[in-house]
Amino acid sequence: MAKRPTIVRAVPALRRAVAAYRDAGERIALVPTMGALHRGHLALVRQAHARARRVVVSIFVNPTQFAPHEDFDSYPRRFATDIAALSEAKVDLVWAPSAAVMYPQGFASRVEPGGPAKAGLEDKFRPHFFGGVATVVAKLLTQTAPDFALFGQKDYQQLRVVTQMAKDLDLPLKVIGVPTVRETDGLALSSRNVYLSAGERSVAPTLYRVLKAAAVRIKRGEAIARVLDVARIEIDLAGFTLDYLEARHALTLVPVASRKDEPIRLLVAAKIGKTRLIDNLAV
Ligand code: AMP
Repeated sequence: MAKRPTIVRAVPALRRAVAAYRDAGERIALVPTMGALHRGHLALVRQAHARARRVVVSIFVNPTQFAPHEDFDSYPRRFATDIAALSEAKVDLVWAPSAAVMYPQGFASRVEPGGPAKAGLEDKFRPHFFGGVATVVAKLLTQTAPDFALFGQKDYQQLRVVTQMAKDLDLPLKVIGVPTVRETDGLALSSRNVYLSAGERSVAPTLYRVLKAAAVRIKRGEAIARVLDVARIEIDLAGFTLDYLEARHALTLVPVASRKDEPIRLLVAAKIGKTRLIDNLAV
């Protein structure tokens, strides 16, 4: 049987464990997650192993990145199954703090990200989100002090926000973006896919299909505005409520006017029933 990772739930125990790795001259990679792990998370763990001798996975459903009307209470929590998967994946350490450990009484500081966090994409529909993410990720990175931190391209704006924050705060680590892992029909794996009914699940891959077709047309030289208009209608007709479909500069996330403003990333967010899905693709 695979060896179970060490599970730590308090900051001093985490610091002792990572200090032992450092003292042995071992490099450390951190994979931050909210649990309910799937093959996407495990791809991050694989990339972590490729870079560092020691792999730490954090599991923390961060209350401050959910608005009151969002799914914090119903967010899937599967700790025992997650630990089994992380044992198989040969993870060394699981950092699983409670909310009281992360935000003890009197907690009063926040990281307020700008730049890509104010691009008018996720931030427009979830204004609380990136402040919560940046603050918790800053804490996870200072608690663990890794050499590498791995994030999925699936949450593309988040990847840009965390990369910018690490740079701005001079955090001595490298942020690595890992390509999105998909189902065979193209749907990006997400812990929230369990919310989808059978009917919604069959429609859900439309997002990726539309992104792919739009990327091809933009590469062929068709006008971006027109390609996006058609794509928005397709998403609408499939039964989604569209939050946004945008073409942005892949690094700054500022709007692009033409194909020459490379590199371009298409980003989409849409609701099907009560479930909100996001996806993105390079042009
Ligand atoms: P979450 O647990 O949803 O907060 O995700 C934890 C990390 O896994 C984030 O960096 C996500 O971008 C990444 N992730 C989630 N889904 C996928 C996926 N389908 N492919 C690659 N990475 C993913």
